[in-house]
Amino acid sequence: MENVLIVGSGCAGLTAAIYTARANLNPLVLEGREPGGQLTTTTMVENFPGFPEGIDGPMLVMNMHKQAERFGARFEYGVVTGFEPGEKSHRVEIDGAWRETRTLIIASGASARWLGLPGERGKIGHGLTSCATCDGAFYRGVPVCVVGGGDSAAEEAIFLTRFASKVYLIHRRDELRASKIMADRVLAHEKIEPVWNSVPVEYLSDDKGEMRALRVRGVKSGAESEIGVKCVFVAIGHTPNTAPFVGHLDLDENGYIIQKSGTRTNLPGVFAAGDVADHVYRQAITAAGQGCAAALEAEHYLTDLEA
Ligand SMILES: Cc1cc2nc3c(=O)[nH]c(=O)nc-3n(C[C@H](O)[C@H](O)[C@H](O)COP(=O)(O)OP(=O)(O)OC[C@H]3O[C@@H](n4cnc5c(N)ncnc54)[C@H](O)[C@@H]3O)c2cc1C
Repeated sequence: MENVLIVGSGCAGLTAAIYTARANLNPLVLEGREPGGQLTTTTMVENFPGFPEGIDGPMLVMNMHKQAERFGARFEYGVVTGFEPGEKSHRVEIDGAWRETRTLIIASGASARWLGLPGERGKIGHGLTSCATCDGAFYRGVPVCVVGGGDSAAEEAIFLTRFASKVYLIHRRDELRASKIMADRVLAHEKIEPVWNSVPVEYLSDDKGEMRALRVRGVKSGAESEIGVKCVFVAIGHTPNTAPFVGHLDLDENGYIIQKSGTRTNLPGVFAAGDVADHVYRQAITAAGQGCAAALEAEHYLTDLEA
């Protein structure tokens, strides 16, 4: 029987691990398929407080990992595949084997959807990203593009006009799916140029491996052209990693865990922290903050359980 089982080793899971380990709760962290979480896919993180010169993303999570280990957190490379809630404890299936825990902190994140173009993985962090808030400021005075047509693509495009010299908005249709107010704002912006009826087909890098252009194909004409950009922002949505909890936890229409109060879910002893529940802020610091809150709530829950 575990006291605290933490699903995920991104910023949220690792912060929960630091707090619960320091509280002597001997947490077990399941790392999943992406140990360290999304920050391992980026290079420089400039907005995490405490690092005036910025810090390399993988280094930041490695530091958090070491900090949690120092206080006794245990780590396993397990993937949660099933879940059965109980009254005072819950059963979790990890790669086919069942374990029991009094509290569960779900910090399994949300995976950005990518385009599936050749060599895509290796280009992330080298002029390819899914987060304008995170990476927009690196592209001052240069052209960039956003791929997508929904509200988040429209928001990212408008945000990027603060930095970029020009923002191409590449969309497979000839009108945006975004709300009318957002679409009107995008279309009226002098720095944004929509590229309608077009789909990306290839990322083109320079000899240093950084993005230099995106090749697109006209959906109707079939003609291909190159758009010279220093960064491609893919904004076609995220998928929350909640599959094992479907049918047990209250999820919203897009599959994100609904937090009832603080990080509590609809089940006692089950808490959700970070991007798995937050589709609004999606930042390392907000995920870490929620990891802290979930740890404190789990600690209080365990104290009440013993009383
Ligand atoms: C390219 C890129 C650049 C970014 N840059 C910045 C930045 O500069 N600043 C910033 O603040 N934010 C940045 N972000 C956002 C930031 O990375 C996320 O907000 C943050 O990582 C969310 O943390 P998390 O712990 O909630 O989830 P994640 O980091 O997504 O971690 C999820 C964890 O859950 C595990 N997992 C998933 N499913 C399972 C399962 N079934 N069983 C077990 N484990 C599982 C995964 O292996 C992973 O360890 C960036 C994101 C991307 C993609």
